Amino acid sequence: MTADKTRLDEQQEAPQPEYVEHIARKSVDFAQWYTDVVRKAELADYTPVRGCMVIRPYGWALWENIRDALDGMIKATGHSNMYFPLLIPESLLMKEAEHVEGFSPEVAWVTQGGNQKLEERLAIRPTSETIIGTLYKKWIRSHRDLPVLINQWANVMRWEMRTRLFLRTAEFLWQEGHTFHATDAETVAEVDKMLDCYRALHEDWLAIPVIKGRKTEAEKFAGAEYTVSIEALMSDGKALQSGTSHHLGQNFTRAYDITYADRENQRRYPYGTSWGLSTRVIGGLIMCHGDESGLIMPPRVAPIQVVIVPIYRGDDQRAVVERAVAELKARLDGMRVHVDDRDEKPGFKYNDWELRGVPLRVELGPRDIEAGQAVVVDRLERVKVAVPVDELPRRLGRMLDDFQVKLFDRAVRMRDSFTVEVAGREELLAAYAGGRQALARGPWCGEPSCEAEIKEATHGATIRVIVDDAARGACSWCGRPARHNVYWARAY
Ligand SMILES: [Zn+2]
Repeated sequence: MTADKTRLDEQQEAPQPEYVEHIARKSVDFAQWYTDVVRKAELADYTPVRGCMVIRPYGWALWENIRDALDGMIKATGHSNMYFPLLIPESLLMKEAEHVEGFSPEVAWVTQGGNQKLEERLAIRPTSETIIGTLYKKWIRSHRDLPVLINQWANVMRWEMRTRLFLRTAEFLWQEGHTFHATDAETVAEVDKMLDCYRALHEDWLAIPVIKGRKTEAEKFAGAEYTVSIEALMSDGKALQSGTSHHLGQNFTRAYDITYADRENQRRYPYGTSWGLSTRVIGGLIMCHGDESGLIMPPRVAPIQVVIVPIYRGDDQRAVVERAVAELKARLDGMRVHVDDRDEKPGFKYNDWELRGVPLRVELGPRDIEAGQAVVVDRLERVKVAVPVDELPRRLGRMLDDFQVKLFDRAVRMRDSFTVEVAGREELLAAYAGGRQALARGPWCGEPSCEAEIKEATHGATIRVIVDDAARGACSWCGRPARHNVYWARAY
């Protein structure tokens, strides 16, 4: 941990290095590989603002595609987008005790406006339950005002000491959904529904298989009744919590005194949920799919799905090839296509687009044009196929669909390779011995002290999620009667 921190801090303060092809070997130094890929693929970079990153156009295009996919699901499930203030008065933030305790170490404060010291400090939102609760107190009056189903796309700030591009930054982008309901049953259903949207985003769009489950008391959201999450496994064997959905019970509505009149005109506290997914998912996409050559983009969210590299020598060839490329591009509408007409050698371009993870590369030269074909290379298996130009629009579409499926299957196989069933202390310890990584599944007793002991003994393996409450036999660690089946992993 310490070595990691030092290196990243140095990097942050070092002058910007020149662009070089070289990225660290993934199999040797995963952390450095990750940072190299993010920066050299021009997804994001460090800034002079400690802990805050800049998202560059290629990274932003990726985020837009992810955001649009999720936004579609949020709206299709009946939610509306709106926007709340960035700043939250201290008195509002302090109303829900557990929430305050959970977030206060990470809150950044505004204490001065212009030359004037503020009478009340303003928090830069770490999340918006408190301001939303305060406003909805005014707007929720009757059972007819329920349910409230809203979402905001916003930036939030949590003062992190250690930062890592996309994975852990002081400022990050996310969506936070907030809902209010009359009944507990409806609230439970909402929590599950939104978690399933996150699952669908990961599995159907990002080609990342996930495990759904409930967080332990130690890992749940501060102020929630319970938290459910999706967990994805990265290719270094560590897990990434990739989206969370919280049942807030009546904790916030009581703290903020939000009530409504039910059908019998009785005052009631509504139930609440909140759910969020952030730019962290980009880190997950990189670490799940990337390889020694760099990124691998899932076609459904790839900023560029097909890159065309024209190949020519001299101006005569160039004119012929450029015309053929323009004609081809015009026929590929509906796909995100980029023509690389930079004045660089084809080999440089191939490496560059491999680093950026573009799923399909089309090479088109004079001999191909004569033969009425183009060469297509896929980023995943690097198979070269000659395809008749007339068939390209249909074939490329199909190849992108196949790529998406293969990438998901590959991620499932990768996850399976780390998955182990554990039934006792020796097996659990062995799974993590010598710096080994594992996604260990086994029965657990439910005791927080047992959970903490396992974390200590395995050097950081935590319960990622409780998958069910149907465990039989003995706890994998302490031997007491087991209550839950859980997954353990070290995590980002
Ligand atoms: Zn136990």
